[in-house]
Parts: sequence; structure tokens; C-alpha cells
Amino acid sequence: MNTNTSLSSANLMALEDAHGAHNYHPLPVVLDRGEGVHVWDVEGKQYFDFLSAYSAVNQGHCHPHIVKALQRQAEKLTLTSRAFYNSNLGPFEKFMTELFGYDKVLPMNSGVEGGETSNKLARKWGYLKKGIPENKARILFAKGNFWGRTLAAISSSDDPLSYKDFGPYMPGYDLIPYNDLDALERELKDPNVCAFMVEPIQGEAGVVVPHEGYLAGVRALCTKHNVLFIADEVQTGIARTGKLLATDYEDARPDLLVLGKALSGGVFPVSAVLADDDVMMCLKPGEHGSTFGGNPLACAVAQAALEVVLNENLADNAFRLGQRFREAMQSLVDSTDLVTAVRGKGLLNAIVINDTPDSSTAWDLCVALKDNGLLAKPTHGNIIRFAPPLVMTADQLEACIDIIANTVRTFKKA
Ligand code: PLP
Repeated sequence: MNTNTSLSSANLMALEDAHGAHNYHPLPVVLDRGEGVHVWDVEGKQYFDFLSAYSAVNQGHCHPHIVKALQRQAEKLTLTSRAFYNSNLGPFEKFMTELFGYDKVLPMNSGVEGGETSNKLARKWGYLKKGIPENKARILFAKGNFWGRTLAAISSSDDPLSYKDFGPYMPGYDLIPYNDLDALERELKDPNVCAFMVEPIQGEAGVVVPHEGYLAGVRALCTKHNVLFIADEVQTGIARTGKLLATDYEDARPDLLVLGKALSGGVFPVSAVLADDDVMMCLKPGEHGSTFGGNPLACAVAQAALEVVLNENLADNAFRLGQRFREAMQSLVDSTDLVTAVRGKGLLNAIVINDTPDSSTAWDLCVALKDNGLLAKPTHGNIIRFAPPLVMTADQLEACIDIIANTVRTFKKA
């Protein structure tokens, strides 16, 4: 229910503009309610959500199983800190480690904290187990990576919008080209490298899918050179790409697995790092933590969110619908001048618009899609990401394909 019923979308946008930091550039729509694959604005207009809060709402908006878990736990116990044990954490950790096949899990909150945690673990392992001299540990990242907005995350970014005027930057971080195993092996020969952190598909870079065999190659090279493979599955994980993890497509089990976003179905921020004892037990009490990480409310919500993914076979649904979606987008590529490419896996897809990255075409097309009842957002100028909730039905997908195809066919460039 809209608690600000007297305020129109225009009023609410003006309020944000006047009183909030201008660190985002939202599409002009004010959302008030969500259910499954749909959201509604304050005037009651219904939309298909084709962003899913950057893949956090894989289970659909306000999934009743997750909301019920939240409500039940919120009335019982929400936060204890890790100064004490709580009755949800152990069972949740057992569930997580059995599901993903690791010895241990370290729960945090936001995705970027998961990434940061993985980097601290890798450095610690580098010093304690690999014998890297003090303060010499290096972590490699792929160009085009995105893992959040903290100073550590932007220190590994090659996007000036992310890093410019926020220096000085974290030492010991280096970039290599994405999807380039030769470049990776050249760097891995340095004995001071403790880890390579990489997204199985680069989400924010515009859904960049590496060649088949890349992830298995990363795994093999990291093993050969005694370097930890960190997979940032914050966006690709939890069934988004048609398997529970995007690394499941290949023989590519990471040493450190970073999860976030849909780990809580968009209900509450929960992230986690999974690793085996050889790595995770390098951390001793007092060396890392978070007031909220592993709180009973988060555990209840994340467990329920994962149950939905498993019980509703969301990975299979994403796999199937994704094939149909790319086929439909490919026919737009073949039959229009506006769309030049489609790429993705499962329900993490993007189309490339025939214009320069600094043009307003992709933005204007997203505004037209919004007017026609579908919400999506450009990423990197001329690329539009399409990532609907994975609870979508085949019929709903066909309705969405019709909206996108009709919008593209009738669109006139500014
Ligand atoms: N890693 C990846 C691959 C992401 O796409 C994101 C966010 O978009 C993050 C990490 C950071 O997650 P959060 O915004 O929850 O900190």
C-alpha cells in the first residue's frame, strides 16, 4: 500500500531530487508495489520488471515464502551480533555449505562486502599458506569488472566514472584482459599473486560472456600456479544464468565463491563467501566480521530464498526461457537496424543498440519500453540489460517479447 497516497510520481521524484544525493540516474518511474514479475507505480500502472533490482529479485517480488520467513523471524529475534551464538546461524551454515559443496561459509551483508571478504581471505592465505612476503600479495582482476563501490572495489575498476577523483587507490591490485587465458598465465607466474577474482559473465560491463572453456581454463591455471580462483557470482549466481551457479557450466569450481543479491531474494541484504578449510580457517577470531553478518533474520530470509530457487526449479526455468528470449531478440537483430547483437545465458541477457555508447538512444528506448509497460535500464550507454525475475512463465515471457519487439519496431531515434 502506498503510504504517500497524496503524492504523485512527479512529487515523489521532486522530493528525491531535492533531498537525496544524486548518485543515481533513475528511469522516471516511481514504484510502489511488487508481486512476482510485476511492479506498479504510484498511479497504479503495471509493469514487467526486466531488471529485478540488478538480479537481486530472482525469486520475484515479495515472494510469499520469503516474506513469511521474514515476518516470522522478525517477531522472534532479529540481531544478536556475533558476540553470541544464535539459533539460526548454524543450521543456515550447514544448509549453505551442503548446497554449494564447501567446508565453510562466512556470511556478510552487501555484495561488495562479500568481495572485500574474499580479498582479505585470499591475502591471508597468501601470507600464511603460500609464503608471500609481508605486504607483497597481489590480486588480479579482469578489465571491465564491477564488484561494488567501496574504495577497494573501485581500486580494481578501469571505469573512470567509478574511480576518478576517489584516489589514492588500494595497492596490490592489477588488471588483465577478460577472457584471455594467456594474459592470465603470464601474471600467475609471479609467486606473489595470491588470487584472481573474476565474474563468470561480466554483468555491469554489459553482460559480456567469455568463450566456452574460459572458466575451466581459469580453474586449471590457478591450480597449476597455486593461486586462488575467486568467482564473483553476486550477479550471475542463484540460478540467474540457468544453473545454480554460472561456474557450474564448466569444470570450474572456485576456491572462493562470492554470493549476494538473490541470496536473499531481494528482501534483505545478505551476502556470503564460501571456501574450504584450507582457506577459510586462515581467519582467526577478531580478524574479520560485521555487526549484521549472519544475523538470525538474514539467515531465515536467505534460507527461504534458496528454498524457493530449489523448490520452484528456477534454474531450469531460467535456462529454458533464456533460450526462447535470445531467439526472439536474434530475430530483432536480423530484421531491424536498431538492435545489432544479443548475448547472455539463462535470463541474464543484453541487446546492443546501433549507436555510440554516449548517445541517448538506449536510454530513450528504455523510456519507450517503460511507457509500454516494461522496465529495463541501459548499462554502459548503448547496451540494455534484460534480467526479469526467474519466476516468469512462458506466456508472460511471450507478452514481454511482444512489448520489446513492438517498441523496437516503432521506435524513432531522437
Ligand atoms: N559483484 C557483482 C558482480 C555485482 O554486479 C555487484 C553489484 O551490482 C556487486 C558485486 C556489489 O553488490 P552490492 O551492490 O550488493 O554491494
